[in-house]
Amino acid sequence: MEEDKECEVDALPGRVVTRMTMTGHAMRCGEGWFALVEELDRALAALDPGYRLFAIARTGGALVFDAEPSSPELANRFAAIVGSASEAASRNCEVCGEPGERSAICGVVEVLCAEHRAAAEAAGRRHREPPY
Ligand SMILES: [Zn+2]
Repeated sequence: MEEDKECEVDALPGRVVTRMTMTGHAMRCGEGWFALVEELDRALAALDPGYRLFAIARTGGALVFDAEPSSPELANRFAAIVGSASEAASRNCEVCGEPGERSAICGVVEVLCAEHRAAAEAAGRRHREPPY
């Protein structure tokens, strides 16, 4: 697990990182959601190649994707696309991307598969934050 960290971070979609860097912000969610985030970026970019991305985060077990279209007219379509990606994220383990469900472990709400939920519970304390 520890050795995988480097590769996982390298696997982060480069285009998404570039877009984040352009607005000087950072990505803060687990590797399990990277594929979803990349898919979301692709969908939004298809609609609006110049959209701005301010934040990717996990709040209360939900994916937060703070994107702003270059035209206000696209705001509703952006909200719909981001909403369905967030919906998908709520069903996928944030650590590994496998099907999971929202669980509160020691006050931290995360979407986890059975394996990672067991691991988090076994840790007996606050689940380790994903490497940012
Ligand atoms: Zn998992």
